[in-house]
Amino acid sequence: MTQRETNWAGNHTYRARIERVRSVEHLQEVVAAAPRVRAVGSRHSFTDLTDITDVDDGVLVSLVDLPTTVDVDPTSSTARVTGRAAYGEVAMRLQAEGWALANLASLPHISVSGAVATGTHGSGVENGSLATAVASLDIVGPDGELRTVRRGDADFEGSVVALGALGVVTAVTLDVEPTYDVRQDVWTGLSWDALAADVEQITSSAYSVSLFTRWGDAGIDQVWLKSRGDEAPTELFGALAATTTMHMLEGGAIESVTAQGGVPGPWLDRLPHFRWEFTPSLGEELQSEYLLPREHALVAVERLRTLRDLLGPVLQISELRAVAADDHWLSSSYGHDVMGVHFTWVRDVERVYAVLPAIEAALLPLGARPHWGKCFVAGVDQLEPLYPRMADFRALRDRVDPNRVFGNTFLDRAFG
Ligand SMILES: Cc1cc2nc3c(=O)[nH]c(=O)nc-3n(C[C@H](O)[C@H](O)[C@H](O)COP(=O)(O)OP(=O)(O)OC[C@H]3O[C@@H](n4cnc5c(N)ncnc54)[C@H](O)[C@@H]3O)c2cc1C
Repeated sequence: MTQRETNWAGNHTYRARIERVRSVEHLQEVVAAAPRVRAVGSRHSFTDLTDITDVDDGVLVSLVDLPTTVDVDPTSSTARVTGRAAYGEVAMRLQAEGWALANLASLPHISVSGAVATGTHGSGVENGSLATAVASLDIVGPDGELRTVRRGDADFEGSVVALGALGVVTAVTLDVEPTYDVRQDVWTGLSWDALAADVEQITSSAYSVSLFTRWGDAGIDQVWLKSRGDEAPTELFGALAATTTMHMLEGGAIESVTAQGGVPGPWLDRLPHFRWEFTPSLGEELQSEYLLPREHALVAVERLRTLRDLLGPVLQISELRAVAADDHWLSSSYGHDVMGVHFTWVRDVERVYAVLPAIEAALLPLGARPHWGKCFVAGVDQLEPLYPRMADFRALRDRVDPNRVFGNTFLDRAFG
């Protein structure tokens, strides 16, 4: 079955045809036969990252028709899940068996393979990106052979956050832990002065912390605290406890956000911002995000505040989140505890791309790495100094995929 479609945001129409494979064996045949092939996940990335735009015979393989399986191994505290599975579905199945993941992104609809391939993350000073939960990957390589890469293997740290450049992931083994409860409390009106005085305490004040702002004089408009168990801060540096359920976007659908108000409930119903049952956000949006060493977070905030008149007309909301360091070569938190500075934009490609150079001029010199799945303009010359293991990734790619079966123009721009 073939179809020509767009990404989730609707700003990119895939040029290559999409083939929905019927089985892993079928996938292996398609990969072995296609001169150029890439995997498409749940389509939540915002650029041509996934697509093949430079040749006419490229194929995007979708695993959406393969049944989702989630097999827990209690002995190793891991669960093997099929690659196209959405986190929301994985989470429900784990919860039904008394298990949990350590963290989730804001949206549960994102595919596991697509998320880990781009270094997708949630929040929490001690929580690594979602890639850090990966214990092994089953990958179909350019010859159609299925192989497994495990934590501890020499290639592992180059293979998880790999942007689909090394093959098509059919299954991911994730670390799991016994299920737990989370309560979510929202605070409003945290001043810039309070943030500057206590940024570490504020970002450490719960298991997962999100700070939402439009960079105006009011400071941080909303703070979302997700605390494990039923204990949460009773004071937050002069901010006020919200008395009703809040959406981070003015006018956003309240019914789309996960339960707030400090009522404890299962991890999967509180860690994401958005509920599995609802379409998130206001629909029309683009996103960018830059992750920089945490010690530069306040400098980044100061620089972005000076850009607020430029950003304001295209910005819906910004979100600051802490992510712990990891060892994945292309991860935006490789080697550093980072602060992610996220931008939800209006869906206007031209106007959004017009403001990105100013943001990158402000943040890249601080060591900020762009989120691979979101909008950015930096090319290989800017990216190379930000990734100490980029040469190792290139060498791995040369060995695994010398003929660039999984190549595309996005990867050419990023890696040369
Ligand atoms: C509403 C919304 C909320 C978001 N929230 C967050 C957030 O909280 N935190 C965050 O960090 N990011 C967030 N993102 C970004 C998102 O997580 C990334 O763009 C992620 O890559 C999406 O995965 P996907 O499968 O949907 O993407 P796709 O565009 O389908 O794929 C992205 C990349 O993954 C590769 N890929 C997909 N499937 C496979 C596979 N089976 N094998 C090998 N490679 C594969 C593709 O080839 C491509 O390179 C959000 C995006 C949206 C739209």
